[in-house]
Amino acid sequence: MTQETAQATESLEYRTEVRQLLDILAHSLYTEREIFLRELISNSSDALNRIQFEMLTNSDVVDHDAELAVTLRVDRENRRLVISDSGIGMNREELVQNLGTIAHSGARSFLQGAKERGASLDEVIGQFGVGFYSVFMVAQEVTVTSRSYRPDDQAWSWHSTGESAYELSPADKSSRGTEIVIQLKDDADEFASGWRLEQIVKKHSDYVSFPIYLVEEKEREGESEETRRMVNRRTALWRQSPQGVEAEQYVDFYKQLSYDAEAPLLHVHLITDAPVNLRSLLFIPSRRDRGLMSAQSEHGLHLYSRKILIQNHNRELLPDYLRFVVGVVDSEDLPLNVSRETVQSNPNIRQIRRALSNRVIRELKSLADGDREKYRRFWQEFGIFVKEGVASDPTSQSSLVELLRFHSSKTGPEEWVTLAQYTERMGVEQEQIYYVLGEDVKSVARSPHLDYFRANNIEVLYLVDPIDGYMTSMLREYEGKSLQNVDDAGLKLPEKEREDAAGKVAQTDFDALVGRVKQRLGERVADVRESKQLVDNPCRLVSPENEFDRDMQRLRRLMEQDFQTPVKILELNRRHGLVRNLAALMQNDSESRLIDATIEQLFANALLVEGIHPNPAEMVERIQMLMEAAVSGV
Ligand code: ADP
Repeated sequence: MTQETAQATESLEYRTEVRQLLDILAHSLYTEREIFLRELISNSSDALNRIQFEMLTNSDVVDHDAELAVTLRVDRENRRLVISDSGIGMNREELVQNLGTIAHSGARSFLQGAKERGASLDEVIGQFGVGFYSVFMVAQEVTVTSRSYRPDDQAWSWHSTGESAYELSPADKSSRGTEIVIQLKDDADEFASGWRLEQIVKKHSDYVSFPIYLVEEKEREGESEETRRMVNRRTALWRQSPQGVEAEQYVDFYKQLSYDAEAPLLHVHLITDAPVNLRSLLFIPSRRDRGLMSAQSEHGLHLYSRKILIQNHNRELLPDYLRFVVGVVDSEDLPLNVSRETVQSNPNIRQIRRALSNRVIRELKSLADGDREKYRRFWQEFGIFVKEGVASDPTSQSSLVELLRFHSSKTGPEEWVTLAQYTERMGVEQEQIYYVLGEDVKSVARSPHLDYFRANNIEVLYLVDPIDGYMTSMLREYEGKSLQNVDDAGLKLPEKEREDAAGKVAQTDFDALVGRVKQRLGERVADVRESKQLVDNPCRLVSPENEFDRDMQRLRRLMEQDFQTPVKILELNRRHGLVRNLAALMQNDSESRLIDATIEQLFANALLVEGIHPNPAEMVERIQMLMEAAVSGV
């Protein structure tokens, strides 16, 4: 080291989250240490993508004509590996910013206390990948020397042993890009072998679109000689004909793209030239939660135009409800000078979006028809997205409804029914498709609204996801049959003659009871009246016919803090024992405090089964009072 650079060397501390990550890396017995190479090559490939994109509009860059490539150089004798690229490079600030902190949103909070929790490296990788720092699984010492593409910037060196600090010093490097010199640990000398590196590249980085060269020193007849060859296949998988691609290649590619350790549930390989040129490879993961942050914060597809990466997470290429789809889209119909901002307004994007979403929906339909078990898994993970699509995408609604699955009063909580199956097994006199909204399958199964349907063997769909109410407010019919909420006050159902008319409370007693209930509940109910439908339950709440947003009420209760309990009609079952006894008590002892308490509790029960009770704990005191009265009579 010369006097000059020694003076300029400064030592900087890593940010806390980096130290926490380095600590996990140092203490993990990670059998797949080889992934460090994938991470470094992937960084180089990003840097090459970025300079390629920059040069579309800017020719004033260092080494304008340099080949865009990654080079791996091994020095077996000194246990050293050098990875270099002609990418965008980093200046001093960028080195500090990028290699002294972790930019990934959410990484910091994840790493906070990760060690105490015993978080494994696998978990870290699942959350946000390990990136550059994974090099410390194999390195004893690392020096990164980089020269930014900007002509005015200087080259700088970053050096670290993976402890709490790193050093920065000015460097001598005239060519654009980044060079990483890795002094391997004693037990990591396998990575100074050309054969081993080639094997790793083939496994993890084969589809990187820039050439990856391997440079080795070979002894020949006492002379040492340098050999250089390309070790990756480079062919973008999405540009290949699907016939030539093995199932395993799709899985590998998906894993490289998504950091998901599990194979995808489905892949969709789309190659078309009309109405737009499109080369696309999309995947549906096996699980919705592939990591706390990854799925939510960084969804979107990788967008290429003529093999140049334009954007990493583009959200315009698929409708929002398909945001769980991962993949790559490449189109020659996007102008190369399209900026990340103007992608949005490009008319071809609209066509691409339509072509992609139609195809994804079609593939899901064939999965549903061809592999029930797999589709079931899909539905359990991603069904709510399909429902969101039914509600939000009118143009695809008719194809999306075929993907819907429901539990119903006939399937129970294990099986599912489609709308097509439902309509097929409807009786001839049934004109509508009935559904009940509620909290979960178990509680809707007990809903008093089902009394009539149970008694008459009519199937009712159970809608128990919060989003269901939103869906039904946008989906009004299927194949000419309207969808009908069973809590509708105006519901027209064929009246069945009942034998046991004698079991009814006498009209005058019933009228007196209705008067008392109205008086007690006041403005909390729109009306109190006799029910024509209840069989096993004493009462229920129905929605006034003009209550247009009632399907949304459950969703609103979850989302709005000041949600007002909606005012509904209370229907009483004149045949039910509880109603009969209550009417009788009114005749015998109209002063009894049990009357109002029972009315209140009946009302509270009805709110509870509707899933709109604002404060269930309110009931406890009253129930205890009623219980006390009940046991005192025993
Ligand atoms: P990630 O790649 O997930 O952002 P890393 O820790 O691997 O996280 O890298 C941090 C940042 O360092 C990158 O986002 C990039 O800006 C920069 N970087 C890493 N390697 C290179 C490289 N070879 N050339 C240019 N920039 C790089």
